[in-house]
Amino acid sequence: MVPERVHTDCQHAAPRRTRLAPSPTGALHLGNARTFAINWAIARKQDWTIVLRIEDLDHPRVKPETIDQAREDLAWLGLTWDEEVPLQSACLQPYVGALRQLGASGRIFRCDRSRRDIAQAQSAPHEREHGLHYDPSLRPDDAGTAVAAPEQSATWRFMVAEDDITVNDAFAGSSTFDLSRVGGDFPVWTASGGPAYQLAVAVDDARHGITDVIRGDDLLPSAARQQAIQDALNLPTPQWWHVPLVRGADGRRLAKRHGDTRLATFREAGVPAEQVLGLMGYWCGMTEAPTPMTAADFLAGLDVTAIPSHDITLTLEHIAWLTG
Ligand code: GLU
Repeated sequence: MVPERVHTDCQHAAPRRTRLAPSPTGALHLGNARTFAINWAIARKQDWTIVLRIEDLDHPRVKPETIDQAREDLAWLGLTWDEEVPLQSACLQPYVGALRQLGASGRIFRCDRSRRDIAQAQSAPHEREHGLHYDPSLRPDDAGTAVAAPEQSATWRFMVAEDDITVNDAFAGSSTFDLSRVGGDFPVWTASGGPAYQLAVAVDDARHGITDVIRGDDLLPSAARQQAIQDALNLPTPQWWHVPLVRGADGRRLAKRHGDTRLATFREAGVPAEQVLGLMGYWCGMTEAPTPMTAADFLAGLDVTAIPSHDITLTLEHIAWLTG
């Protein structure tokens, strides 16, 4: 039986396109590998086109050596792609165009406030739990008026409406966000002269013809922000698929503090890719215990309805399975 949270109907005219979008701010780890393996297998099962898009705008956090490493890690696992688009940093013109369009329609304002000012204006404690919240009381008086040519050396924020935004997700079901209460006005452009993540992704998913976005569910609130931008720019909203994350025993997102879980480390230590994919398959509900798998086995075995709807906790046994 197909659970309700999984939509199997085709909501877009063929051909469908998805993207693998690693950020070269660090090496890919086991959690990234699971999300990418799921993304790849869902796409390959249905003959979608897979686009590789390296998201390298997050300066200065980008580590250039992890760009090639990401390609090598994916290829090692057998997670192939059909097209690679240029690095986001190669041409900022599409993002500048989108910024101007948002400026012309009065959807953004220039923000000269420091993080400290913004943090100090946060009143309700529940807002603080979700990170920095830009309170509408901080908006400059001219917020909402059209700006013909937004300066690219300033921070620009998107004015969120006091409205519920519903994110319809093929995996996570539907959720509703009132961005005016969660995070508030968010940056679309940074003072370093480039687009912020939310704008870059909304623009790129549209111009690369992406119909299906499959990624970690830590980005579910970002989907609401991206929908707000897509609506403002008249861009289509892709079908979202947000899948639970792999976490450490402390419940936090997989990171250095949980030990070295980088794919490159296992690869260089001679761990076979089949061992890693076996763990991925186990984490996707394919087997009762990890069993070596090729990418073809993983593809054949993936049943979206069997992927656990809860987070996965990385344990010492999992690492022992890899390192034997
Ligand atoms: N590049 C982002 C990351 O690695 C993913 C962005 C997205 O899928 O929209 O976290």
